[in-house]
Amino acid sequence: MSIMRNLSIRNKLIILMLLVSIPALVLGFTIVIIMDIFQLREDLVNHTRLNAKLVGEVSIGPLTFYDKRGTEEILELLEVIPNLENGFVYDENGKLYTSHNISKEEFEPPSSLLAKQVYHEFKGDYLHLSHPIIRQDVFYGTVYLRASTEPLQRSIRSRITSLILVMVGLIVLSYLLALRFQGTISYPILKLAGVTEKISHYSDYSVRVHHEGRDEIDVLYKGFNNMLEQIQVGQKKRDEAEAEQRRLMAQLAEKNKELEQVIYVTSHDLRSPLVNIQGFSQELNFSLNEINSILDKMGHIPQDIKDKIDPILHEDIQESLKYIEVSTSKMDGLLSGLLKLSRVDRMTSTFDSIDMNQLISDMINAFEFQLKEKGVNIRVEQLPPCFGNEMQLNQLFSNLLSNALKYLDPKRPGEISITGKEKPGGDYVVYCVEDNGIGISKEYQKKIFEIFHRLNPDETDGEGLGLTIVNRIVSRHSGSVWVESQPGKGSKFFVSLPTTINN
Ligand code: ADP
Repeated sequence: MSIMRNLSIRNKLIILMLLVSIPALVLGFTIVIIMDIFQLREDLVNHTRLNAKLVGEVSIGPLTFYDKRGTEEILELLEVIPNLENGFVYDENGKLYTSHNISKEEFEPPSSLLAKQVYHEFKGDYLHLSHPIIRQDVFYGTVYLRASTEPLQRSIRSRITSLILVMVGLIVLSYLLALRFQGTISYPILKLAGVTEKISHYSDYSVRVHHEGRDEIDVLYKGFNNMLEQIQVGQKKRDEAEAEQRRLMAQLAEKNKELEQVIYVTSHDLRSPLVNIQGFSQELNFSLNEINSILDKMGHIPQDIKDKIDPILHEDIQESLKYIEVSTSKMDGLLSGLLKLSRVDRMTSTFDSIDMNQLISDMINAFEFQLKEKGVNIRVEQLPPCFGNEMQLNQLFSNLLSNALKYLDPKRPGEISITGKEKPGGDYVVYCVEDNGIGISKEYQKKIFEIFHRLNPDETDGEGLGLTIVNRIVSRHSGSVWVESQPGKGSKFFVSLPTTINN
């Protein structure tokens, strides 16, 4: 059956048709042959019986008058009958009366034959037949004939040969008919298979199959066409959605570029007016001090005028100048942060395998003063390498370490650790910067990566850009960053980075 399974549908159909027709032909012809054999044997028995009956009839006279010669002459007449070999006549007592051997072959007849009934049997290559000689209920004796079955066997053989030839001819004919008619079933299926193959090869869902007739193939074709129609509609929608997505992505990329440009230009160009403001406010401060010293030198100033200008000179103007100074330095910090951020986006970066042990150790050296000042205990484990841009990774880990220092809990000695582990599969490395600082509550853990987002703006300095820069650098490396933290206990910042260029 497994061989059958791998055959083409065309061959399967031919084999099925032959499997049905050959047994039917073989069975039919076997029945015909068996019936033929029986018929031929019956014919031989009937002929021989008729001859025996005739011999008996004409032998009554010679038997009645003891005319042996007469019975001999009658038996000699049997020579004209082709298959008869021997003829014997027995008297009413069953004793051999006359015998005649037609063939050369010696045959010993039964010495006595009392059978009063017709009897025959096929024994060896002969038919043995005895027939009683009876007239008007008087029994005169028995005729015994021995006929050769050789001609009978010959004609059976020739019948079988010709029937086998006819059967072979019919089998060949059924094969040719099967070959011719299998197409009515296999052709539509093969056509469908061909179209399916074409579709899967060229992804062309516009083709359709056609069938003339109202059978199950027609139902199959209609279902197939319907399915193609639906796929085509789905594909069209998908293509349109993909084109729209590409268009939006391009638009987004363009807008992003524009935005980067705006950030760069504004943060860069706003610096010179800011420097002017800082410079002129210093100038104003200087002038104010000049006015104050002139007024001091003037000696007597009327009290009512002094009361009026003192609050202006010593409070209002000085307070305003202080505000201008604080605001400009805040703006300066913001602009330098924005510049740093735009530099990350504009940087053309070369990527390499990075020795993270070296990179982190250099970075810690740069933070040596702050670490000592805050009395922080820093622990660095052996770190696996990763694939990236050295400068950007330095910036990334500097921002994380700077935050770990900035957000330490003043109530306990600072503990910071930097660790790293290869992920199962070896495609990525996950580094972790952990501190025992103030921690971040769950609801803000995602928000802190957003631009300008700060949790306690009044308590610490900063622009809310450090983690935004970290996020940018990580996504430029096809990596990811996330935080696990508990308020009052500390934070763990995880950074996942690729180990090879393929990632
Ligand atoms: P900045 O530090 O300038 O405020 P960041 O983007 O670096 O900006 O950080 C955003 C906010 O995330 C910070 O204002 C702070 O509230 C919180 N944060 C960052 N790192 C830590 C940390 N290690 N522990 C606690 N809070 C942190």
